[in-house]
Amino acid sequence: MLLIKCPYCEEERPELEFRHAGEAHLVREGKIIDQSDEDFAAFLYLRQNPKGLVYERWRHIHGCGRFFNAIRDTVSDKFLTVYKAGEPRPDLTAIKAEGAAAPTTRKRRSRTTKSEL
Ligand SMILES: [Zn+2]
Repeated sequence: MLLIKCPYCEEERPELEFRHAGEAHLVREGKIIDQSDEDFAAFLYLRQNPKGLVYERWRHIHGCGRFFNAIRDTVSDKFLTVYKAGEPRPDLTAIKAEGAAAPTTRKRRSRTTKSEL
């Protein structure tokens, strides 16, 4: 089970208490009236889907109910850090160095084959 630390409750809780809320730090450029339909549609619907570290919004929906941001590695599913909404985005280079040494909180089941039983 994946454990996620809520920055408001300040404790690790099971992933079932949380809901992913999309990409973090999205900023619309300029006024809506000045944008083309294609640019506005891209702002609304097009998201990056990188392999590796991503900035994400999460909500502790079955806890305090508050939104927060996180940096998660999409390859290992490991949360490198969490921070409150409205706080500036952390420096990724410092997080990468720190995260590489930190142990993962995800526990995986080992697979057994029929021949091992
Ligand atoms: Zn919380």
